[in-house]
Amino acid sequence: MSFKMKYDIISDLLPTGTKRRPGGKINVRFLVAHDTGNPGSTAKGNINYYRNSPTIAASAQIFVDDECIRECIPAVLGTPERAYHVIYNVTTDNRMFGADANDAAIGVELCWGGNIDGAKSYARYVWILAYLCYKFGLDPKRDIVGHETLDPKRKIDPSNGLKHIGKTYNQLITDVAAEYKECSGKSAKPQTASVKSGKTHKVVSGDTLYKIANEYGTTVAKLKALNPEIDVLALQIGSTLLIQEESKTTDSGKSPIYGTISKNSPTLSHLAVDYKTTVANIEKLNPGINPLKLQVGQKVLVGYKSASTPSSNTAKKTSMKKVDARLAEYLKHKPVRPYPGSPVKRGAHGKDVEAIQRALKISVDGDFGAATEKAVKNYQSKFPFLGVDGIVGYNTWNVMF
Ligand SMILES: [Zn+2]
Repeated sequence: MSFKMKYDIISDLLPTGTKRRPGGKINVRFLVAHDTGNPGSTAKGNINYYRNSPTIAASAQIFVDDECIRECIPAVLGTPERAYHVIYNVTTDNRMFGADANDAAIGVELCWGGNIDGAKSYARYVWILAYLCYKFGLDPKRDIVGHETLDPKRKIDPSNGLKHIGKTYNQLITDVAAEYKECSGKSAKPQTASVKSGKTHKVVSGDTLYKIANEYGTTVAKLKALNPEIDVLALQIGSTLLIQEESKTTDSGKSPIYGTISKNSPTLSHLAVDYKTTVANIEKLNPGINPLKLQVGQKVLVGYKSASTPSSNTAKKTSMKKVDARLAEYLKHKPVRPYPGSPVKRGAHGKDVEAIQRALKISVDGDFGAATEKAVKNYQSKFPFLGVDGIVGYNTWNVMF
């Protein structure tokens, strides 16, 4: 699979070791959409301004205007580096993605206003966000967030800039998803799970990954991991999805143990700690794995257990304990909005429902109906330690707020 390179990305790197380019490699887990907030300022102009004011700790990796896409801190042209584009003391990024934006996200700035042609600037902005998703294995609908969402008290970007060129944030995300599909050249022929054997499902009209997961009592993350070649944004009718791998036992009587990449275990070192092994071992077990391109939900072979081990195997116990610890981590912090005292579920009305809808980024009407329930389930499915029941109980609330 390759990506259609509609535009050049110009390297306009800042000198290293300044506050503008503080250095430090990052493992890209999401993208933050910004606009410059300065009508008429160009990509080149903004980067030159950074260059001339090296002692200010504020920056972003990429600027986009109607003429070019410029990278001033390595993002796609080199190993991604840190930029200071979201203040550290906001916690929304930590709650949504399990990390500070500066340490795990690429910041992309849209230039607009003045003499800048809004349509051209927007087209480049959409494309680079789609390309970044492709490059880092991100989902445009899940892994892009607006600066204003992370820091709503202080920021109005990128909706403000988008508004000036006649667009909305939701439209941006829809356009990025469409651009991703177009440029990654997904073929029209049904995609088929590779040679793996086991229980399968043929996609029919109206299927979603979530629906299929429910049908077979599995999770969206597991389906994604089992079917890495399937475009989850565009399930195609007639495609075959692997639902469950046939349990294999090797000649030596050992069966594999898989760890799963998640927001809370985003790297091989996390898995190594979780499963009491080493990164080197995991890399040996998974030849060809790219530690910089791990995707949430990806299954990684972490070792083998003897088939003769009693069913209460230690790997499972360890992983149960780990799950509790992760939830405990969320529960340690006081939620920004206090838990209402009882679960919020279908049929509920009012301010708490509005808060949930805002957190889920769905339309806010204060009525907990089918759409809200579905969005809650979708949200819960992203956390391995939350039950997917569509009810915002104590645990889900504390993760959400
Ligand atoms: Zn911003």
